[in-house]
Amino acid sequence: MRLLLFLLTLYLMSCTNAPSKKQAATEQLSAAPHDDHSYANLEQINTKHLHLDLEVDFESQTIYGIARHQMKNKGADTAIFDVKGLLIQKVTLGKKGAEKETDFMIGPMDKDSIIGQALLVNVDSKTTDVNIYYQTTENSGALDWLDTNLTSSKTKPFLYTQGQAILTRTWIPLQDSPSNRITYSADVKVPSDLLALMSAENPTKLHANGLYHFEMPKAIPSYLIALAVGDIGFKDLGQHCGVYAEKELLNQCAQEFEDLPQMMRVAEKLYGAYQWGRYDVLVLPYSFPFGGMENPMLTFANPTLLTGDKSLVSVVAHELAHSWSGNLVTNHSWSDLWLNEGTTVYFEQRIMEALRGKEIADILAQVEFGELQQTLAEMAADSSLQDSKLHLDLVNRDPDIAMSDIAYVKGAFFFKTLEQAVGRKQLDAFLNSYFQHFAYRTITADRFIDYLEQELLAKTGADFNYREWIFQPGIPKNCVSINAPRLDKIQLFAKEFNAGTNPFKPKVKYKWIRKNGKRRKIKQRITIQYTDYLIQEWQLFIRALDPKTKIARLAALDQQFHFSQTQNSEILCDWFVLAAQSNYIFKIETPLRSFLMKIGRRKFVLPIYQALMKSPEGQKLAKRIFNDAKNNYHSVTRSSVWKVINAKD
Ligand SMILES: [Zn+2]
Repeated sequence: MRLLLFLLTLYLMSCTNAPSKKQAATEQLSAAPHDDHSYANLEQINTKHLHLDLEVDFESQTIYGIARHQMKNKGADTAIFDVKGLLIQKVTLGKKGAEKETDFMIGPMDKDSIIGQALLVNVDSKTTDVNIYYQTTENSGALDWLDTNLTSSKTKPFLYTQGQAILTRTWIPLQDSPSNRITYSADVKVPSDLLALMSAENPTKLHANGLYHFEMPKAIPSYLIALAVGDIGFKDLGQHCGVYAEKELLNQCAQEFEDLPQMMRVAEKLYGAYQWGRYDVLVLPYSFPFGGMENPMLTFANPTLLTGDKSLVSVVAHELAHSWSGNLVTNHSWSDLWLNEGTTVYFEQRIMEALRGKEIADILAQVEFGELQQTLAEMAADSSLQDSKLHLDLVNRDPDIAMSDIAYVKGAFFFKTLEQAVGRKQLDAFLNSYFQHFAYRTITADRFIDYLEQELLAKTGADFNYREWIFQPGIPKNCVSINAPRLDKIQLFAKEFNAGTNPFKPKVKYKWIRKNGKRRKIKQRITIQYTDYLIQEWQLFIRALDPKTKIARLAALDQQFHFSQTQNSEILCDWFVLAAQSNYIFKIETPLRSFLMKIGRRKFVLPIYQALMKSPEGQKLAKRIFNDAKNNYHSVTRSSVWKVINAKD
C-alpha cells in the first residue's frame, strides 16, 4: 500500500476518471470562499468530528493516514477540503467497515501556492462520513522531522507539527479554516521507543506497543491540531500542570516553569475558570520556529526559554492566556489575528503584573512598544503602512503577514488604552463576559465591535475611537503611554555610550565606617554587573546603540558583559544584529555561526539574516551560514530566511 508508484497510479486514475460533476465543483470553487485562505464549502457541508488513524514512519519521514470526517451535510453533492503537499490515495464514504470508494478530484495549485489545492469529493445529499486515505510528502510544511543529531539525546529522532496559520492541510486533508470548530480523536502508531503526544488528553508514559489513543472532546479550530513524537519524559508540577521534554532537558524545564500552577491561579482569577482540564508544556528541540504555540492542553515551547533565571517566562504566560483568547474564542479568519493575539498579549501583561509587580510588567510592555514603533518605521519606509491596521485585508496574501507586532502589540495597546478609558474593573468584567459568551465560537471584528458597544461602551458611557484603532493604519493619538523610569536610566546609558564615554566604568565612592570605636573613611569601587539589570533592559540598551560605533568599543563592551557568550537568545539576537551592521560581526563569527546553526526560532534568526544582508560582505556570510544551517530549520523559518536572502532590491 505504500508503494509510491501504486499510490500515484491510484491518484492519476482518480483524476482521469474525474467525475461528471467536475464542472459543478469548479463553479463552487469560483464562488466566494467562506474564508480567504480555505477552499472548504462549509456552508453546504462541514466536519463536526475528525478521527485520525495515523502511522508515523521515521525511516521514510512519512505519516500514513486516514482522515475520517464526520460531517454535517445540508444537501451537498461535493465536499471540499484543503490539501497541500499531500498524496491522496483514495476516498471512501460511510462508516468504518462499510465504506464505499468514491470519486475525487484535486484542483489546481493556487497562483502563489499559498493556500494549496482544493480536494473535491463526490458525495450525495445524505453523506455524513468521508474517509480520506493519504500520506504526507517532503512538501508537508507542517512537519519537522529531526534526525538524531538535532535532538538532545543524539540517539532518538523527533517529529513535531506546526499548524498555524494554514499548515494543518499539509499533514491532514481537512477543511482548514478557523471558522469551523471540530472535535477530534486519533489512533497513532509510532516506534515503540518513542512517546506520542497531541493537543489532547495525553499519556505520561511510554506504551510498549507504540499505539496511542487521543481525544479532544472540545471543539477547536483546525490549526490547533498538533502532534509530537520523541524520546520524551514527563514531570508533574501540581495543580493539573506539568512539563514534557526530551529527557535530558526535563529537570531544567521543571525548574524554569515551576511557577506554572501560580500563573494558572492568577489567570483564572482574572478571566474565569480554565476550561481544558490539564495544562502541560512540551519543550521542543531547538528548530521550533516560534517562542511558543498554544496547542490546547499542551503548549509547544521553544527551548530558548530555558535561561535558568525565569527571565523569559512571559512567553509561557502568553501561551497560557491563549487558553482563553484564541483557543476558547477564536479569530474567524486570519484578517482578525489581532483578536487572538492582542487580547492575549494584554492578558499576558496582566499575569506578569500579578506575578512580578507593575514595574516589571511596565518594562516588558514598554520594550514591546519600542518594537512596535520600529515595525511601524519599517512599514513607513517600505510603503506598507496599510498593514498597520488591526483588521487586515489578506485576500490572495500569505496569512503569515498578520503575524507582526501590529496584531500583538498594537492589539494589546488597544486593550490597554480601552482600560484607561473605561477603568480596569469595567474592562475585566467585559472580558470575563466576552470569554463566556463566545466560548468555543469564532469571532469577526464586526461581531467584536457589536459586543464592545453593547456590553462595555453603552454601559459605561465611554467614548472610544475603536474604528480608528481597528480600521486605520498607525497608532491613534490617545494610545496610552507607559511610565517606566528604570528605562530612562537605560536610555541615558546608551546616550552616554553613543557620545563616546563608558557609562559602565567602575565608579569610586567613599564611605564612612566605624572600626574599633573609630570612624574611618573607606574607598569603594562600584562596578555595574550584567545581573544588575533585567534582560529586557539590556535589550533596550543594545538596541539604542549607534550601529556606527567603533569596533574596539564594541569589543570592550563585549568583554565587560560577555554579550556574545551569553546563553540568553534575546540578548544574543540583539547583539548580533548590532554587530552585523559593522565589521565587528566578523570578530564574533564563531558564536554567531553556532547560534544560527542551533536555533531555529524565527524571531531570532530572521533579524540577524536581515542585518547581515545589508552589506556585501555580510551577504556572503549570511549565504554561507544559511546553506549549512537551513536543514536545521522548520519550513516556517527556512522559507522566511530564504525570501530575505533571495530578495531583489
Ligand atoms: Zn500568541
